[in-house]
Amino acid sequence: MFKTHTRLVIRMGSFKSLEWLSRFLKETPGDSQVGGVTRQVPNACWSRVKPTRSPDPKLMLWSEEMATKLGLKRPNGDVLGGSSIIEGMDPYAQRYGGHQFGNWAGQLGDGRAITLGEVKLENEVLELQLKGSGVTPYSRFADGKAVLRSSIREFLCSEAMHHLGVPTTRALSLVTTGEKVLRDMMYNGNPALETGAIVCRVAPSFIRFGSFQIHTASDDYSTLKTLVEHTVKTHYPGHSVADDSGLVKWLTHIAEQTAVMISHWMRVGFVHGVMNTDNMSIHGLTIDYGPYGWLEDYNPGWTPNTTDSSMRRYRYGQQPKIGAWNLARFFEAIVPLMDEPALLHEALGAYTEVFAELQNEMWVKKLGLGSFQESDETLIVELNALLQEVETDMTIFFRLLCSIKQPDIKSLSDAFYDSTNIPTEQWNDWLSKWWKRIEGSPNRQDMIDANPKYVLRNWMAQLAIDAAESGDFSVCEELYELLKNPYDEQPEHEEKWFQKRPEWARNRVGCSMLSCSS
Ligand code: AMP
Ligand code: MG
Repeated sequence: MFKTHTRLVIRMGSFKSLEWLSRFLKETPGDSQVGGVTRQVPNACWSRVKPTRSPDPKLMLWSEEMATKLGLKRPNGDVLGGSSIIEGMDPYAQRYGGHQFGNWAGQLGDGRAITLGEVKLENEVLELQLKGSGVTPYSRFADGKAVLRSSIREFLCSEAMHHLGVPTTRALSLVTTGEKVLRDMMYNGNPALETGAIVCRVAPSFIRFGSFQIHTASDDYSTLKTLVEHTVKTHYPGHSVADDSGLVKWLTHIAEQTAVMISHWMRVGFVHGVMNTDNMSIHGLTIDYGPYGWLEDYNPGWTPNTTDSSMRRYRYGQQPKIGAWNLARFFEAIVPLMDEPALLHEALGAYTEVFAELQNEMWVKKLGLGSFQESDETLIVELNALLQEVETDMTIFFRLLCSIKQPDIKSLSDAFYDSTNIPTEQWNDWLSKWWKRIEGSPNRQDMIDANPKYVLRNWMAQLAIDAAESGDFSVCEELYELLKNPYDEQPEHEEKWFQKRPEWARNRVGCSMLSCSS
């Protein structure tokens, strides 16, 4: 009894009581210079750099769940605002490169993210990273800061994604810095001062596809090899990359994890917005929340990112293909370590195969089909076409479908943006086919588990941001709580949050239009 009690007290402690590791710094080559100006940092995986002190750090949002996992009591804003370094922390910025919008962009790196250290827990090690805590050698022409709106979007969405069952980095805290940051939000010559903020995010590591690419691009195969060995030893202990076959097995594993992540995005209607290879986690986690968005109207051609509005490279319906393209660029980076690079086709093939299987499984669950039959393909293709006939809300459509009593589109009319313009006959035809297929008895539990009732719609995040910008974080708190249980009915929240996009949000910046400015 006494022992349990003592352990409990130790578990919920301060940053000082955590066990800090620096495996990445110890096992991979780094920059000999500490901090310093923006520059190229050849032959390195990282640069030591201290966060910039915030003039008036205030902890505004706190993930109690993440904190419990780490064993942390709610602190003040000092450490999480970059103003204090605890013994055991060895802060650094990671070096990486990446393909941005299809083009090789050279060295990128953590331009505004600084890792505090790795925390050893009973069964895992988690890295804590501050996003928005000042310049690093990788900041290029920018200030290393982050603004409140983008920090709220990252905090709320990464936690919401976790509760939706989508692999993701997590958030521990959001601190306002007490400093104003200048941003030209839509890149249209209208710069304005915004509230500065820092999110502390958490993941097994923030290693990306681009972390490997940068070394191959500069012909530094020795650092490439060291980074591969570190990554496998630390994060994939069941794997060995001593030969080609081991490498291919490891890469196949990553391909599968990537397929799992993207199939979840498709299930819940998430559009990442900037699937550059520097934003692809080696763990298959959703990472770097920027101009992401959620499908409201079911339009596979939609992307919230105005920076991508002409090509729409990262539109919802193209995410699976981009996953393959990004994996191909990552695998190319591993070629110098192989005798028979043609074997890499196997790993890439695994992505396509696993993704196709997961898509079938997804539709089986979303439609309560029980198991997949060949003939279901037609049903699914027809459904996808019908959902695009008129403006139809993805989340509401699938959620109402979970409780439909007979094949009549009337009971789903709330999912349509214009109730006077529902293609009733076509829908009733489709619903009858579906009803016949499931013999009037869909697997409703599967459907509920696959079709969330509440997601972080763009306008919901915007309402939270509007309130927070005038000092009121209660909407952030409300959404944080709501989105902890996205599959639950929560009838008390229905009227406010189980709603289609309101008209005011149709063309509003922050809702339908977002840029990379953050
Ligand atoms: P992202 O598109 O947000 O993933 O960022 C692409 C690159 O730009 C990364 O190397 C970031 O670290 C860097 N970056 C983005 N915003 C800033 C900023 N405010 N200051 C410095 N670097 C930044
Ligand atoms: Mg990024």
